[in-house]
Amino acid sequence: MEAQKTATFLSLSENVGQFSLLGKTFLIPEMNRIGAHLLAGAFRSFGVNALVMGTYEGLDLGKEFTSGKECFPCQVTTGDILLFLKKEKESLGDDFNPENYIFFMPESEGPCRFGMYNKYQRIVLDSFPEFRKVKIGSLTSENSYALEGMFEKERTRDFRKAAYFSVVIADILDRLLWRIRPYERKQGATDGFIERSMMTMADSFESYGAKKDFDRILGKLEEIVEEGKALIDPDIHPKPLIGIVGEIYLRTHVHSNQNVIRVLERYGAEVVNASIAEWVDYTTYDKVRAAKAGLRLNLKQFRFNKVKSYLKQALSYGGDLLYQHIRLDQAYKRVKPLLDLAGDHRVAHLEKILIKDDLYSFELGTEACLSIAGIMEFMHEGYNGAVNVYPFTCMPSTITSSIIRPIMSHERIPFLDAPYDGTCQPGREATIRTFMYQAYQHYKRHGRKKH
Ligand code: SF4
Repeated sequence: MEAQKTATFLSLSENVGQFSLLGKTFLIPEMNRIGAHLLAGAFRSFGVNALVMGTYEGLDLGKEFTSGKECFPCQVTTGDILLFLKKEKESLGDDFNPENYIFFMPESEGPCRFGMYNKYQRIVLDSFPEFRKVKIGSLTSENSYALEGMFEKERTRDFRKAAYFSVVIADILDRLLWRIRPYERKQGATDGFIERSMMTMADSFESYGAKKDFDRILGKLEEIVEEGKALIDPDIHPKPLIGIVGEIYLRTHVHSNQNVIRVLERYGAEVVNASIAEWVDYTTYDKVRAAKAGLRLNLKQFRFNKVKSYLKQALSYGGDLLYQHIRLDQAYKRVKPLLDLAGDHRVAHLEKILIKDDLYSFELGTEACLSIAGIMEFMHEGYNGAVNVYPFTCMPSTITSSIIRPIMSHERIPFLDAPYDGTCQPGREATIRTFMYQAYQHYKRHGRKKH
């Protein structure tokens, strides 16, 4: 028993973390489809053999090797990696070498369970002798997803820049999809167009990411936006605008959320989902915040050694955040004159909203910070309704719901909680239809935020 426990703890510390990616196949789980492919393109540009794994087909395996108490994304991603490795072993036979693979599973600090996925998945992989040597490559929000150890030191910063830019461009492509699809001239044209555009942009990142030729990447994006604009039928009237917030995996993984955006669109919505860049910005913003707090405290206590260290951190994370803002603005400035896509929120602005109405504190962390403030911002901007999409039992999203529901009810703005756990709930579609009926009434009375 003791020996087994020691082996488990050793494996958690030795086989989960930041490992050199050179010469390995880096397996990226598909969360947001476009984001995963663009990120893989950025990795390939730096010489990493990155691959986006298929998703959701392994759910049975995921359920078999979890107890049911884990968060749903943990079950889905456990199934994804197990199915991928099983298939790979079957097709390669004796040539299968587990040491060639690194499975990408980042983590997040704080009170929620995302910090435990990769540990749990380590234990599951270790239960298969043939997969024990597959490493789990993890980045953590604790240091704002720093990449030390994964690349040669001198390329780490460049990769971080390219990776962040891939996140921003993927968000824009997603926004393009949600902007065009409800108004498309020819039914089904947008999906094919966006799939092709995603591959084009992934190639673009592969070619220009490492060179940091972001201008060329933006040039490609502009061509795509122009092309996409032509798919819109100008005779279709604006539709009720619905904002989505919630847990990052569920709200972006279309299989897990049973295509909630498409269902909303079927009942007459135009949807804007919260972005992924917002989360990345939040993790960096939170580090700046913590460093500033440490700085203030230690200044008061005259602990100058610590003051120096906190000052360094504040400057370093502050620099990262500034860089992220510059890149984000640069990308949106290039596409917004072409088509009126929804913009992104600044995290500092979201924090101000929470402070002003005394709704929640950034001290508590988690995605509830973004979701609560995000919905408030939708409300101020004139959206016709909001949906909170999350895994059943998700803690931050349950907090969001408990705080935001009475406010939305008071303001008479339609609000829907949409928890998912992989089961098909017979009343789900009727609930969405009812919600959209209410959103349409709101739209008739108040109009909507202009494009
Ligand atoms: S955000 Fe929710 S679903 Fe995701 S790990 Fe935390 S508790 Fe689980």
